[in-house]
Amino acid sequence: MNKIPVAILGATGLVGQRLITLLHSHAWFEIAELAASDNSVGKKYGEAAKWQLPFEIPEHIYEMNVLPCDPARVQAPLVFSALPTDIAGELEIAFAKRGAIVSSNASPHRMDADVPLVIPEVNAEHLALAEVFKQKNACEGYILCNGNCTTIHLALGLAPLHKRFGLKKVLVTSMQALSGAGYPGVPSLDIIDNVVPYIGGEEEKVETEPLKFLGTLKGNAGNRKIEYADIRISASCNRVATRDGHFETVSVEFIDKPSAGDIIAAFDEFRGLPQELNLPLAPKRPIVYRREKDRPQVKLDRDAEKGMATIIGRLRECQVLDYKFALLGHNTLRGAAGATVLNAELLYAKGMLGEGVMERGREGVKG
Ligand code: NAP
Repeated sequence: MNKIPVAILGATGLVGQRLITLLHSHAWFEIAELAASDNSVGKKYGEAAKWQLPFEIPEHIYEMNVLPCDPARVQAPLVFSALPTDIAGELEIAFAKRGAIVSSNASPHRMDADVPLVIPEVNAEHLALAEVFKQKNACEGYILCNGNCTTIHLALGLAPLHKRFGLKKVLVTSMQALSGAGYPGVPSLDIIDNVVPYIGGEEEKVETEPLKFLGTLKGNAGNRKIEYADIRISASCNRVATRDGHFETVSVEFIDKPSAGDIIAAFDEFRGLPQELNLPLAPKRPIVYRREKDRPQVKLDRDAEKGMATIIGRLRECQVLDYKFALLGHNTLRGAAGATVLNAELLYAKGMLGEGVMERGREGVKG
């Protein structure tokens, strides 16, 4: 039992539940602490959580006591944050200052100059920003963020295109699943028989986060910073009555327009560090390009590669920009919990969890 002990903040929520399913029998990490709001503190996890997944809560997790999200009470060196936006900002900083490495789903620190915002296949080199955070705050901990659930899939789809051909403009319209709003989320009478053309703060995230993901790391040591990608993105985000899986239609304009065949080859051939390092949660294909004329579809394709892939199809000429396509991704797996776990696996594989923690992990893996 020498795995690295981890804590989950916001463990009872939808993302927290996904984190439990991904971590409870992980090869390198072991769930040591679960934390949530005052409503849940002191209860057994199984009694506090309104479990939403179609399999049982693991028995040892059911019996664990829920702790408060207090850095003095939660001691694990690696902390997964699935906290609501309004409290994540201060709490994540407090955890990092007490020495924890915080792998976060929440949005407050994503665009901070000293916080890496990472998709391991796209911009693993941005992890170097962690040193800037540590120097600035004189601490051993730091925060590593994953993106918004719509943005992660969009950025995965754009990355091979931008890297090979250079992108100028992107128009994206999203149709986002209900689980993206957390539990209990959108009231049923607001969404049955309806499409809601507003998700607070979402369009701003989808228009800005990809510029950081696709940006370039500049400077050295404590002066590292990200130069944002020079792409104009316009987003329209809608809530629809699907359960899981954010669907997006995307139009793109290139610096030099490639052929459709070159674009599909870029999707098909796209691989990154998680595949090279064979990380436990890495999909074999981070992008799955489907050739059928009516795919991807939410119900049929969201679970491709165990929910860790972005599924693309219907590439065709666009009469306004150069090309358009359909894109889909699981919002609570690769769009949230799976992204945080893959980020933490990358830290482990790159030896970035702190020497004491890494030593314990190495012994665990040997054992
Ligand atoms: P959720 O279902 O509403 O869960 C929220 C969690 O935070 C619960 O565990 C809740 O505990 C806890 N919490 C609430 N208020 C708290 C407080 N004052 N102090 C400590 N804990 C508190 O939300 P979610 O969908 O899991 O989302 C979690 C985070 O991930 C959010 O920042 C969200 O924006 C982000 N995210 C979500 C998705 C998605 O697809 N759902 C995707 C990407 C990112 P109790 O049960 O005790 O109330």
